Amino acid sequence: EMVANRITDIGPPKYDEMWPEIIKNNYGKWLHHEILEPGVLVHVAESGDKLYTVRCGATRLMTTHMVEDYCKIADEFCGGYFRFTTRNNVEFMVTSTEKLEGLKKALAAAGNMPIGGTGHSVTNIVHTQGWVHCHTPAIDASGPVKSVMDALFDYFTSMKLPAQVRIALACCLNMCGAVHCSDIAILGVHRKPPVIEHSHLDKMCEIPTTIASCPTAAIKPSKVDDFKSVAVNADRCMYCGNCYTMCPAMPLADADGDGIAIMVGGKVSNSKCMPKFSKLAIPYIPNEPPRWESTVKAITTILEAYVSGAKRYERIGEWIERIGWERFFDVTGFEFTKRHIDDYRFAATTWRTSTQFKW
Ligand code: SF4
Ligand code: SF4
Repeated sequence: EMVANRITDIGPPKYDEMWPEIIKNNYGKWLHHEILEPGVLVHVAESGDKLYTVRCGATRLMTTHMVEDYCKIADEFCGGYFRFTTRNNVEFMVTSTEKLEGLKKALAAAGNMPIGGTGHSVTNIVHTQGWVHCHTPAIDASGPVKSVMDALFDYFTSMKLPAQVRIALACCLNMCGAVHCSDIAILGVHRKPPVIEHSHLDKMCEIPTTIASCPTAAIKPSKVDDFKSVAVNADRCMYCGNCYTMCPAMPLADADGDGIAIMVGGKVSNSKCMPKFSKLAIPYIPNEPPRWESTVKAITTILEAYVSGAKRYERIGEWIERIGWERFFDVTGFEFTKRHIDDYRFAATTWRTSTQFKW
């Protein structure tokens, strides 16, 4: 019993401990749902209970003051409950249309809790946050996300797109950010092999573990100026940063080498078709803090071409498949380069089988 009741700080509480009463009562007995207007859903249960959900765009990193503001609204309208979604939205749930109207007014009055992100919209960007906690980012996360969403805000608060558009950002090609299955993906890429700090390496790193960490077997033992160290075969390196995970004496962040690749057309499966992986649309855009102009321009270009060319309900990947990959480059004006071509000719010697790592 002691074990069952123990309180630890490992992991979140079990989900059903955090359910509002109406969700507990109707668990497994929801009949259907619909979107009443952008950002507002209603779920109807067998019992006749109705649950209204209001989705607000939020940020992944926020101040405790912001959380306090959400809590005040949740206390006033939602019995103290609200939830964060994986796409960094905040959702408030109420059980009547009267409460719904009051909630919407309070959110509008707050000024920083925009309602939207449902149906045929651009919902909030799911993203990583490598520069806060990780070791291999090639880009900032919050900066590009904020800049892109500022430009696409109108598509968040409306539902005028042919279908939903899911945008994701991962700050390196390890892709914690779902970029492989999103309609538009912003991906941090390195373009140079790691720098080897020979005088530190044998003091900071286990050489066998460092060699074993490389997925393309690009690392071998070496001796430099009497230091036990390693050498990297640059042709084999795909700039993944795995070696840096094991060995801090092999940093690969580089002001000129690092930047953004844009990918398009990924999605998870739905009733219409199988899942699709995203494809490389732009191999490299330099890092441009603070407003990331070229990245914003690239994404608005893709979105505008999609809006004017896609049929209703067609996701970006389905639209591209219908018009053809070549035509996608015509309508966006993006340059088609050798980096877009799947080329397995070098796989035997380099083990690279992807389009993204050819620099
Ligand atoms: Fe770290 Fe890469 Fe994930 Fe960003 S995408 S959090 S840099 S592993
Ligand atoms: Fe190998 Fe990746 Fe390190 Fe390159 S960056 S040497 S591919 S582990």
